[in-house]
Amino acid sequence: MMAGNEVRHAGDRAEGVSAPVRTRIAPSPTGFLHLGTARTALYSWAYARHHGGQFVLRIEDTDVARSTQDSVNQILDAMRWLQLDYDEGPVYQMQRLERYQAVAEQMIAAGTAYRCYCTPAELDAMREAQRARGEKTRYDGRWRPAPGKVLPPVPAGVAPVVRFANPVDGSVSWSDLVKGPITIRNEEIDDLIILRPPAEGAPTGALGVPTYNFAVVVDDLDMRITHVFRGDEHINNTPWQINIFRALQAPLPQFGHCPIILGDDGQKLSKRRGAVSVMAYEEMGYLPEAMLNYLARLGWSHGDDELFSREQMVQWFDGSHLAKSPAQWDPAKLAWVNTHHLKAAPDERLATLVVRHLGTLGIEANAGDARLARRCALLKDRCATLVELAQWLAMFERPSPPSAEDRAAHLANASARAAMKSLCERFAGVAWEKADIAQAIKDTLAQHKLKMPQLAIPLRVAVCGRQQTPAIDAVLALFDRATVIERLSAALM
Ligand code: GLU
Repeated sequence: MMAGNEVRHAGDRAEGVSAPVRTRIAPSPTGFLHLGTARTALYSWAYARHHGGQFVLRIEDTDVARSTQDSVNQILDAMRWLQLDYDEGPVYQMQRLERYQAVAEQMIAAGTAYRCYCTPAELDAMREAQRARGEKTRYDGRWRPAPGKVLPPVPAGVAPVVRFANPVDGSVSWSDLVKGPITIRNEEIDDLIILRPPAEGAPTGALGVPTYNFAVVVDDLDMRITHVFRGDEHINNTPWQINIFRALQAPLPQFGHCPIILGDDGQKLSKRRGAVSVMAYEEMGYLPEAMLNYLARLGWSHGDDELFSREQMVQWFDGSHLAKSPAQWDPAKLAWVNTHHLKAAPDERLATLVVRHLGTLGIEANAGDARLARRCALLKDRCATLVELAQWLAMFERPSPPSAEDRAAHLANASARAAMKSLCERFAGVAWEKADIAQAIKDTLAQHKLKMPQLAIPLRVAVCGRQQTPAIDAVLALFDRATVIERLSAALM
């Protein structure tokens, strides 16, 4: 094991040895994929893709009581939706227990880890005494072997944990890809539990399930991970991890700790302040490319670019320009980003995506319907989300009666009604194409000596149930003729 006071930087591996870039995202399946995790997944993915490296998905399921298959499925769905394709995985930690236990055995043999037989009651008493003396509570090393030290007799019936023998002096330093140089003194951290007690009734000498800090090191090592991006709540774990890497005489990855995302109230983004699950945004009608664009900017910048594609992000994301301070979640900006990506999306794709949102409104639609794509093309500029697009599209599929106010303001005027009546008659005979519809409207205006808005607004109100729509000839052409005639006739009754 290296001396505890030897200062090494996490960038060591990068010096001289050029390992292919390998990154990972390692969510715990104890809930949905959080926006913060999605952002670190995006950075890890983009960094690997930028360098032509590999990206791995690892499921950190050692918290058996809280891990669920449902949550694994939600994580996989979110990764799929965001199209964060991984080259390896999902690797499940619970399928690698023997490996962690073998490494722990090696460490016990090498003297860098040891069994500790303290009972929970003993640990409580230890902390109590430390508090009474005004000391910081920490494990006091009573089972840590040392030359000449006599360990307590092994108590009967106590299943031991395995602890890492953390260096007692010196400090751990690394050059964080996001936060810059960080140093933490070893005296601030104690001997971490790396294996929990073995299951009840396990044979003597059996080992238990690893804790996060240990499994993460064995995995990052075995998976040859070169760059770790994660949330900055893990900064305090990193010194332990670096010390364990060193105890295993293994090269260190580089670490980048991204600041948390704040809610619009300046507090940590939480469920109370709105959705924090990635897939909730799918449901709200956001496009995955908009989500990636927006998440990317929450902690990284490329000049003044606010709107970009995933390809551009891959091209630009070299690990620089990561923000040190937290960004605030801004729903209005996300909507603005989404508006842009909606406009840029091919109409056929929007037609495919909007089908499920129409379904939510009780409207059955066919993604392959060419007219649905044309309707999307006409309306997408007016929408911030696919949900809004679906709400617009609904007018084609089911009655959208005007409000009483609109009826009074726009459908009561005698000259407009007369014009609508003759237009309705004309409509019965024209070819149902935008140009012919436009001509029919023009002729009707001339005949009734009206200006465009005097007829167009009543038409919109009668057929679409609203005063504002894209060009009325284009809108009407995307309705069935029979529907238009029916709605005009109803308005004239
Ligand atoms: N399972 C940890 C988490 O979800 C992973 C942290 C890491 O990337 O090391 O926070």
